[in-house]
Amino acid sequence: MSSAVRRAMASTISNPTSLKHGLSLWCSEVQPSASSVNRILQPSSSNFFPSRCFRRNFVAAAASSSLSSFANENREFVIVGGGNAAGYAARTFVDHGLANGKLCIVSKEAYAPYERPALTKAYLFPLDKKPARLPGFHTCVGSGGFRQTPDWYKEQGIEMFYEDPVTGVDIEKQTLTTNSGKLLKYGSLIIATGCTASRFPEKIGGNLSGVHYIRDVADADSLVSSLEKSSKVVVIGGGYIGMEVAAAAVGWKLDTTIIFPEEHLLQRLFTPFLAQKYEQFYQENGVKFVKGASIKNLEANSNGHVAAVRLENGSIIEADTVVVGIGAKPAVSPFDGIGLNNKVGGIQVDGQFRTSVPGIFAIGDVAAFPLKMYNRIARVEHVDHARRSAQHCVKALLTSNTPIYDYLPYFYSRVFEYEGSPRKIWWQFFGDNVGETVEIGDFNPKVATFWIDSGKLKGVFLESGSSEEFQLLPKLARSQPLIDKAKLQNASSVEEALEVAQASLQVGADA
Ligand SMILES: Cc1cc2nc3c(=O)[nH]c(=O)nc-3n(C[C@H](O)[C@H](O)[C@H](O)COP(=O)(O)OP(=O)(O)OC[C@H]3O[C@@H](n4cnc5c(N)ncnc54)[C@H](O)[C@@H]3O)c2cc1C
Repeated sequence: MSSAVRRAMASTISNPTSLKHGLSLWCSEVQPSASSVNRILQPSSSNFFPSRCFRRNFVAAAASSSLSSFANENREFVIVGGGNAAGYAARTFVDHGLANGKLCIVSKEAYAPYERPALTKAYLFPLDKKPARLPGFHTCVGSGGFRQTPDWYKEQGIEMFYEDPVTGVDIEKQTLTTNSGKLLKYGSLIIATGCTASRFPEKIGGNLSGVHYIRDVADADSLVSSLEKSSKVVVIGGGYIGMEVAAAAVGWKLDTTIIFPEEHLLQRLFTPFLAQKYEQFYQENGVKFVKGASIKNLEANSNGHVAAVRLENGSIIEADTVVVGIGAKPAVSPFDGIGLNNKVGGIQVDGQFRTSVPGIFAIGDVAAFPLKMYNRIARVEHVDHARRSAQHCVKALLTSNTPIYDYLPYFYSRVFEYEGSPRKIWWQFFGDNVGETVEIGDFNPKVATFWIDSGKLKGVFLESGSSEEFQLLPKLARSQPLIDKAKLQNASSVEEALEVAQASLQVGADA
């Protein structure tokens, strides 16, 4: 039974304020960002969204009298944000033949959309181990799609604005303003602004040189140049960002310490058993752990560069590079005050990603959507949802009869994958981590955890599975079959446990 996970989740439900302000607070309330399905109770009102259908509720173009006042030529569809979700949305517009001359993307970053998870994985490989660099991981590499380089957008007739964040929106005039002062017109607007990394306050050293937060390529480049000069790295946060960065830093052969306030790594997903296996592996590979610790402040040397991390208990850990991975907050500020419902944290949408303002949609990390299979509103900060929500939203916008989004939560992480690493680690989790757990396997290399609630299999975690085994996981988590717990517990290997689980699918189908 994963009581810690349930506690964390329960506190999320009962405290929507913590969602609104993101998951991460410094000191003892720091929460890992891993596997963050942020749970929010369904609103009681069933008519929260206007009943009128606003599919195809886009304007063809601006009125001719004001044509020249808008900086964009493509005005039918505008996406704000140039990240994972935007890349997949663009591809879906192209698939429907509705990108050329119609779609505009406005991004804060200098790069076309790319696969963000790479930033704390192959991007941080040691420099002699072929680290990933753009254009190598533009959308949709990794999910079987065509690689969408900046040229791809040009060829598809998609208008791109780089390094010019949107600062405001006028929903009456259907216009956007950007940081550089551009005025853009939209017919339909898709908000795909993702999240921003939570930071430590400046007064405790959160902005010192040598202190890093990782959200985009510029952040990752800055970290790489620090690592080149570094000898002592402290990673703050025991979520997936912290775990991935710590694994990378020991790959660089740097003295690496990971600090977090919880009892164990990835507390929102890992059971104590799983955490113990991973912590042991990390320790064997040189990572030091400081658990149950709160940060007091980050200290600087005489040059203003970070030199140490001081804990609340008075101890000091030397560092010349500090990486802070304490969660993220939905990037909603340009859309404050326009009547979008963001009480739940993020922007609330319906099962077709429509916000409460006709013609405005939200996808990816920023969207709080109905998680149909568990009957609750959730915000999911994971790439699989970014991809699927983008595709679903655009299909719903462009075609009729698109069903309600029916997402199955899926998380993964990959660490120690650089050439010559002692062991490549790749785990996947599908479903809901509620109920009791059954854990099988010795982590040599496989391990599996099954979550069972009211006799039903609710969630399943697998490390180092074969591709057939990984393919079974979503089927199990989606079907939630009744499962014989005793039989599962008696399985002598992960393979046998998965066979027991697979057989339970069959029983359900036969019943
Ligand atoms: C380092 C890192 C590692 C990750 N690893 C994993 C992983 O292993 N597995 C997994 O499932 N998920 C992982 N994730 C999460 C995953 O990357 C996100 O869920 C996904 O990127 C969300 O897509 P998005 O398009 O909603 O947001 P993003 O990809 O964050 O894109 C948002 C974009 O909007 C831009 N933007 C923000 N505000 C504005 C504005 N006002 N105007 C214009 N543009 C704006 C941002 O600069 C950014 O380019 C990771 C995330 C990070 C940061």
